[in-house]
Amino acid sequence: MATNDPDADVVIIGAGLTGLSLACWLAQLADHNGQAMPRVHLLEPRTTYHNDRTWCFWDREDHPFRELITHRWPQWQVSAGGRRVVQSNPQTPYALLPADALYGYALERIDACPGLSLQQGVTVEGIEEQDGGVQVHTSAGTLNARAMVDTRPPENLPETSTTGFWQVFTGIEIHCPDHGYETTTARLMDFQACDDHPCFVYLLPKDAHHLLVEWTAFQSHRDNQGYRAQLEHWLASEGIKDYRVIRSESSMLPMIPISDERRSGRVIKAGVGAGWMRAATGYHFASCQRGSMLLAQQILAASASNQWHLTPPNVRSRWLEWMDRVFLRALQRHPDQAPQWFLSLFSRTTAPQMGRFMNDQPNLRDALAIASALPPGPFLKAALV
Ligand SMILES: Cc1cc2nc3c(=O)[nH]c(=O)nc-3n(C[C@H](O)[C@H](O)[C@H](O)COP(=O)(O)OP(=O)(O)OC[C@H]3O[C@@H](n4cnc5c(N)ncnc54)[C@H](O)[C@@H]3O)c2cc1C
Repeated sequence: MATNDPDADVVIIGAGLTGLSLACWLAQLADHNGQAMPRVHLLEPRTTYHNDRTWCFWDREDHPFRELITHRWPQWQVSAGGRRVVQSNPQTPYALLPADALYGYALERIDACPGLSLQQGVTVEGIEEQDGGVQVHTSAGTLNARAMVDTRPPENLPETSTTGFWQVFTGIEIHCPDHGYETTTARLMDFQACDDHPCFVYLLPKDAHHLLVEWTAFQSHRDNQGYRAQLEHWLASEGIKDYRVIRSESSMLPMIPISDERRSGRVIKAGVGAGWMRAATGYHFASCQRGSMLLAQQILAASASNQWHLTPPNVRSRWLEWMDRVFLRALQRHPDQAPQWFLSLFSRTTAPQMGRFMNDQPNLRDALAIASALPPGPFLKAALV
C-alpha cells in the first residue's frame, strides 16, 4: 500500500538539472536547519552523465553549486550592424557553470546523504495517484511514495509555435591561439543577417585561447537542421581558422509559455515542464535554483507534519510572465526589429537592472525602464492581442 509502507517519502522523476538541484537543496536545508531528511528517491534513465551543456546566468543568488562556477565576466555586450552596447557590473557578473561539475557534485552529495538515493537506468512509464500516496510504474517495477515530483521535459509542444519561438542553437568550445577577444566581456548577442527570423552569435571568451561560441536562431518551427555551417563560416569571417574543437553542444529550447502544466497535491511538476524556464529568454538556471529551494522547503515541512500537499512554487511573478508573453508576441510579428529592440533594451537600462530582469527578479522600476526602452506601438498592439 502506498500509504502504510511506502518505498520512499518522495520520488523525483528525472535527475537532470531540476531533480539534482532539488536533491541538493533538500540535503543543504535539512543539514542547515537540523531537520530530519525524508526518504527521497530519484529515478533517471541515463546510466552515465556527460559534460553535455554549460549553464550561464547572472551570479546574484546563493545556491548549492555556486563554488562550481568556473568563469565570470564582469561585462556583457549586445551588438548589431556595427553598433555595440556594453554593460558592466562586477558585483553581479555573468557566470558559467559546466554540467560535468554540477553532475559530479550532486551525485557525490546524494551518495553521502542518508535519505537520498538515485536509481539510474530506469524509465518512468506511468503514475497513479491513490488515496494517501502515489504509485510510480517504472521499467524496473512499481514504487510507492507519499508524493512525487515530476521533472520530465514537457510533452506535446507544437512543431510550429504561434505563441513563441524555438530557440535552436549549435555551439562549440574551441581552442585557438590568441583569439583576440576581450576576456572580460561576454558577447550575448551579435546579430547576424538572416532571412526571416532573428539569429545571432553568442561568444564567451573563457581565456586568451578558449572560446565557447554558438549560433542561435529564434524560429517559429522546430527543426534540428543545426547551424554548424553558419558557425564555421562566421568563425572564418572573424579570421579564426586554426582551431581545435574540444566539445560541442546544441539543442532546441522551447521559448513557449508553459503554464497549464502546474499541478498541486501529491504529484507536482517541476523544471522546464512546469514552465520554470523563462519563455522570453530560454534561461532556466536561476529560476531552477529558486524553485528547487522553495520546493525543498515545502517537502521538509510536509515530511515534518506528514501533510503531503505540495503547491507549485512561484519562480517568477505573474506580471513578468505577462510582459514576456507580450514581448514574444511583438517579436513574432516584427522579427526584423529584434536587433534594434535588444540594442535599445541594453542601452536604456542599467547593468544591475538587466541582471535582475534576466534572473527573473525585476522590481517595478526595472520593469518600467524595460518597457520604456521598447517602441510603444508594436508592444501596445501585442498587449491588446
Ligand atoms: C545544451 C543546453 C545548454 C543550455 N544552456 C543554458 C544556460 O546557459 N542557462 C540556462 O539558464 N539554461 C540553459 N539551458 C536550459 C536548461 O537550463 C536546461 O535544459 C536544463 O537542463 C533543464 O533542466 P530540467 O531539469 O528541467 O531538464 P533536464 O535537465 O533535461 O532533466 C530532465 C530529466 O528527466 C529525465 N527523464 C526524461 N524522461 C524520463 C522518464 N520517462 N523517466 C525518468 N526520467 C526521465 C531525463 O533523462 C533528464 O535527466 C540549456 C539547455 C541545453 C540543452
